[in-house]
Amino acid sequence: MSAGLNTAQLEAVNYVSGPCLVLAGAGSGKTRVITHKIGRLIEAGLEPKRIAAITFTNKAAAEMRERAKDLIGKAAKDVTVCTFHALGVRIMREDGQVLGLKPQFSIMDADDVTSILKDCGGTTDAATARQWQWTISLWKNMGLNAEQAAAQAPDDNARVIARIMALYQERLTAYQSVDFDDLIGMPLKLLAEYPEVRERWQAKMGHVLVDEYQDTNATQYEVLKHLVGERARFTAVGDDDQSIYGWRGATLDNLKRLPVDFPNLKVIKLEQNYRSTSAILRAANNVIQPNPKLFPKTLFSELGEGEPVRVVDAVNEEHEADRAIARIQSIRGGQVNPSKHREFKDFAILYRANHMARPFEQALRRANIPYKVSGGQSFFDKAEIKDLCAWFRLWINNDDDPAFLRAITSPKRGIGHQTLGQLGTFATQYKLSLFEALFAGSLPSAVNTRAVDGLHEFGRYINDLEHRARHTLGKTDALAFLLEWLKEIGYESHLYDGEDNEKVASARWTNVLEFCDWMAGRCGGEIEDATGTDATDTKNLLEVAQTISLISTLSEREKDQNVVTLSTLHASKGLEWPHVTLVGVNEGLLPFKLGDDDTTAGASQEGILLRLQEERRLMYVGITRAQRSLAVSWTKRRKKGRESVAALPSRFIAEMRLDENTVKEDPREKLKALRAEFAKRAADAAAQAKP
Ligand code: ATP
Ligand code: MG
Repeated sequence: MSAGLNTAQLEAVNYVSGPCLVLAGAGSGKTRVITHKIGRLIEAGLEPKRIAAITFTNKAAAEMRERAKDLIGKAAKDVTVCTFHALGVRIMREDGQVLGLKPQFSIMDADDVTSILKDCGGTTDAATARQWQWTISLWKNMGLNAEQAAAQAPDDNARVIARIMALYQERLTAYQSVDFDDLIGMPLKLLAEYPEVRERWQAKMGHVLVDEYQDTNATQYEVLKHLVGERARFTAVGDDDQSIYGWRGATLDNLKRLPVDFPNLKVIKLEQNYRSTSAILRAANNVIQPNPKLFPKTLFSELGEGEPVRVVDAVNEEHEADRAIARIQSIRGGQVNPSKHREFKDFAILYRANHMARPFEQALRRANIPYKVSGGQSFFDKAEIKDLCAWFRLWINNDDDPAFLRAITSPKRGIGHQTLGQLGTFATQYKLSLFEALFAGSLPSAVNTRAVDGLHEFGRYINDLEHRARHTLGKTDALAFLLEWLKEIGYESHLYDGEDNEKVASARWTNVLEFCDWMAGRCGGEIEDATGTDATDTKNLLEVAQTISLISTLSEREKDQNVVTLSTLHASKGLEWPHVTLVGVNEGLLPFKLGDDDTTAGASQEGILLRLQEERRLMYVGITRAQRSLAVSWTKRRKKGRESVAALPSRFIAEMRLDENTVKEDPREKLKALRAEFAKRAADAAAQAKP
């Protein structure tokens, strides 16, 4: 296991008998330490199933699983490699009954939560509901329940939100469901308050490894502490300069608390960066330098000076996109070493916020360059598509409770939350799925009679749809069926009623129609078997629906695609690409508006300063994703609504101090020089041609 590790990394890998913290800058091989340490632990005799490695995203988990497999082979498959949230799900599936939760509890996603909150707080305004959601989430991450939040509320607004939180929590309980924050909060409750549960999990966990430790929040830290217990066999790796989730409750205090809570903590620092050239690393170090230091560290690289970091100033967003794509094309078209670091997957375009992707997507499409948008919303995440898929899921599996709740309320069919709450309680009591509960003889005792009729009608309708879908074959029939169904449930008017902005509603309806068309196209005549022997086999609509509802899970597995990556800076954490372009590096975007938006309005000077520090860390994360070349671009004008307004370069560009030793890109100068060169050659040739 010692191949490709330096002395400090080896030390971290070989120390298996107690708590260990690897604290080091970007690209210094922290994640590599974790993967190798999994192998080392197995070598040392620990059963793979007693090892848990916790990553920050599902994608990072998938990648780590892959790397561990390459390194240690089959044994890797029994190692738990997942996010804190996924681990939480596992703990709750096994032990949630103690808290009154059945094993097939449902997980509400952000959209579900917004709609429940709208209902609890009696508002139709999604922005308000999201603001509540944000606050409630923050409280939960701080380990506060509604009562505690109310007790320490600083003002009336907070007290109102705390009341809504109480209602919201009641409703989740009635639905046998949890939100993302509960996936951490509830396991914590289980581990903290139920000694037998805690002991069982501690016995299961031989060694726990945590990547991106700087971005854990207070509750996650408590979960970790309970999991490892007094033996404290764990390895945490992190970089205080890359803490970029403060806004979601992550806290650097977790780094400070480790040596206090674990006095025998072994702290290891890594100083060599294996990812980036010196030019890139220097820009990164300069940017982060003004931030206060939690632990002093210096990073160096032996990869050579490399190309200078480039600054690109564009006229507007479209121009910026064209320049970024031109850069990709020019690097790909270069003459030296044509095969090296020039594939589409070697390029990434990174930006502050999701909505900034659009001009780049358009430019890439125009240039016929394949790409993927990561960290953003995929088509299958759109609310209207999820609505449709919920119905399909319910046809396929009547016992899918989250699908049931989504379908029965999209569109609303006069069955209120109170009824659904009663149905939920009843289902839990008799250990039934919500759908099964509809037809239980004793249901009327739990729900008022008028509501019972509505519920029965819904159940019969689902059965009917299921039957019809099973007998629908061929594109024409499938499309006709889907459109008829949408009409029956009044989905189009539901979209228009739920949305003040007609344009948005119409775009949603178009998505729905496109989706149905695509789905119908897959009905019938699809060749099952690659050999073609099964060419006559056709899929009915129900079977198509089944494959489709799997697609969103599948897309996570599409790795190794040779495509350009478009990503938010947040989602780029931990990753690396040979060529990176950071775009929209303007004041007001990166750093994000300071002082005049919702989250910082009324914030103190100190609060704003802390925000600026986090923004600076975000810039640092962006810069350090680049291995060989980096360009940073900003625009002189940007769109604000329909207007185009003047914009300024980010202060971070100046802070990179590129002028010390690098040149700015100026294509006009380059063109001028090229023209002069050609003119000279032509003149020389002409002179030579003369006798
Ligand atoms: P980040 O802070 O961005 O998460 P990290 O500290 O986790 O970075 P890694 O992703 O583990 O860094 O490593 C960065 C790159 O350096 C990877 O390509 C990795 O394979 C390589 N690397 C790490 N350690 C070594 C080493 N000892 N020898 C050669 N290459 C290494
Ligand atoms: Mg890493």
